[in-house]
Amino acid sequence: MTSEFRRLPSVDKLVSDEGLKQLAVGFPHELLVSLVRQQLDAERLAIAAGKPAPSDDEIVAAIARRVRRLETLGLRPVINATGVVLHTNLGRAPLSREAIAAMDTISGVYSNLEFDLDSGNRGSRQVYIEPLLCQLTGAEASLVVNNNASGVLLALSALANRKEVIVSRGQAVEIGDSFRIPDVMRQSGAKLIEVGTTNCTYVRDYDGAITPRTAALMRVHSSNFLVVGFTASVTIEELAALGKQRDIPVLDDLGSGCFLDTTAFGLAPEPMVQQSIAAGISLALFSGDKLVGGPQAGIIVGKKELIDKLRRHPLARAVRIDKIRLAGLAATLLHYLKGEATSKVPIWQMIALPIDEIDRRARAWAKALGGTAKVVDGESMIGGGSLPGSTLPTRLLAIGGEPKGKSAQALAKKLRENSNPVIARIDKDVLLLDPRSVLPEDDEIVTEALRSLVS
Ligand SMILES: *Cc1c(COP(=O)(O)O)cnc(C)c1O
Repeated sequence: MTSEFRRLPSVDKLVSDEGLKQLAVGFPHELLVSLVRQQLDAERLAIAAGKPAPSDDEIVAAIARRVRRLETLGLRPVINATGVVLHTNLGRAPLSREAIAAMDTISGVYSNLEFDLDSGNRGSRQVYIEPLLCQLTGAEASLVVNNNASGVLLALSALANRKEVIVSRGQAVEIGDSFRIPDVMRQSGAKLIEVGTTNCTYVRDYDGAITPRTAALMRVHSSNFLVVGFTASVTIEELAALGKQRDIPVLDDLGSGCFLDTTAFGLAPEPMVQQSIAAGISLALFSGDKLVGGPQAGIIVGKKELIDKLRRHPLARAVRIDKIRLAGLAATLLHYLKGEATSKVPIWQMIALPIDEIDRRARAWAKALGGTAKVVDGESMIGGGSLPGSTLPTRLLAIGGEPKGKSAQALAKKLRENSNPVIARIDKDVLLLDPRSVLPEDDEIVTEALRSLVS
């Protein structure tokens, strides 16, 4: 083993490698030395674990990868051909031109973020977004934070610490990626009181669980699953009425937070923010980057008295929204006020896309493959914790068994290795590409990527 260690090249030899020197132009010499040392340390660990020493060329290649990793931005654009419109792993909602422009304008300059231009005094970053949200939802007041998870944590911490919150047993859910209602509740210091059963909860269940320690009644939208069969749940109107009657705040974690009627697009009904406010709930909480189609944000709308309590809580500062996303969110909300969301907000353009148009685009892609692919019927999903089980009919490019006898897995990998990675879906060893979730301006890139599969 000691001899294996001795086969490793010296630091001096590696830093004078011509290829590495070329690659590291623009970086100080000490940085290259440091990367070389890190790689040699890693090789020594591997040898100690019983591996043979790699060749000098292999070590140089590994160091080259370390140099390139520093230089290439971690995040890369990808093309979402999965047909899942709000794909959480692919960054949820792409933004409108106007939202991107607003973010671009604000990012390189100073702004009146927390400065009142009239008085010359300190201001609040919330004042720019509040009129838009109140107009859209009918709420008295609003607060925008980092994301919905932090909004829920803030609301529970500010209103229910050391008190009880009543939730239906069927709604004490896990949204994914370790956001579980019972855990968030514990973190906030609130005690979760589960009522009803997994499939059935009635108003009398909430009513019977109210004590002097009850801080809130809470609804949580079961964003990512359906309960079917013998079920009963309490409507938001009923819950709001009970809250009013017993003088207890009602919190509504809407998850996606939709402003448009999804049934108009052939989808299942997704609870709308306006409905919750009209029903008389105290606070509605939802994401900026799910069905709102804006940047990541947690949006809280409702009664001014409660919003003020949230604003004053120390966590509010810890979870505050940054200026760039605030600018993008304002531009996104304006699309709804102007009634132009389905023509300007990309996710709504995708949801509203006519099937003929999808078919036309899928056929254009099929041409690039020269007869080895078919266009078939399929379904697009909304994703991102909204509209579980509800799909939109679509047309898919289907590549199966071919070309050149490559497996769907191998083809999917090849598409991911494209300079603009294309992410497809696989079903029963057939590779499927859905034009619905592909931005129209990216169609040409997909065509090129498909050509490279057959060439
Ligand atoms: C998605 C979701 C959250 C978390 O929202 P983020 O904006 O992703 O933090 C919380 N509650 C529900 C019901 C959700 O669907």
